[in-house]
Amino acid sequence: MIENVLEFFRNLPEKKCATCGEKIEEQHECYGNTCDKCNTL
Ligand SMILES: [Zn+2]
Repeated sequence: MIENVLEFFRNLPEKKCATCGEKIEEQHECYGNTCDKCNTL
C-alpha cells in the first residue's frame, strides 16, 4: 500500500510556486502553492 502511494506521488507533476514559478521541493509544511520564499508572510 505504501509503495503504491509513493509511486503515486512520483508520478505527480512537479509542484511549482504560483508566485515565482520556482519548483517546490518536498517540504513538511507545504500546503500552499507557493515556495518557501514567497510563502513567508
Ligand atoms: Zn515562489
